[in-house]
Amino acid sequence: MSGSAALDLSPGIELTSLCYKGRSCDRPFFIFYEVNPMPNDALPTLTESALRGIACRCPRCGKGKLYAGFIDLRPNCEACGLDYAFIDTGDGPAIFIIMIAGAIVVGSALVVEIKYQPPFWLHAALWLPLILATTLLPLRSMKSLLIALQYHHKAAPGRLIDREPK
Ligand SMILES: [Zn+2]
Repeated sequence: MSGSAALDLSPGIELTSLCYKGRSCDRPFFIFYEVNPMPNDALPTLTESALRGIACRCPRCGKGKLYAGFIDLRPNCEACGLDYAFIDTGDGPAIFIIMIAGAIVVGSALVVEIKYQPPFWLHAALWLPLILATTLLPLRSMKSLLIALQYHHKAAPGRLIDREPK
């Protein structure tokens, strides 16, 4: 990363790599920059971030609410004004919920079937409510936990910006 000192980087833009490994850095073919849209504040500890996430609170101040609806986000924090536009959890919350709920429900259904061999209507009566409980109940907290971790680790997609070569 010796070449980064010669570049005039704007605030919020961090140089991630100048050239591919094993290539000369004198005349790089591409220059990659990372634009971090999140404010450069003092971060809470990982435990504080996780607790704010589980409580569905703002990842920066821990006071403002994160959601306007069930899983619809507010545009910003009502307490500290943090813009929530950086939030991008994608399919992360759903994937974690599917894996955890699937293990619980399928494991329970297998144990009950092997031990008691109940009729199928009893399986439906048991597992449909359990599926709803294990997927819908933790969804808000799981999504806000991932948001809090995204904020804590300043995770954001890297972007290319146009720059005149020097
Ligand atoms: Zn806040």
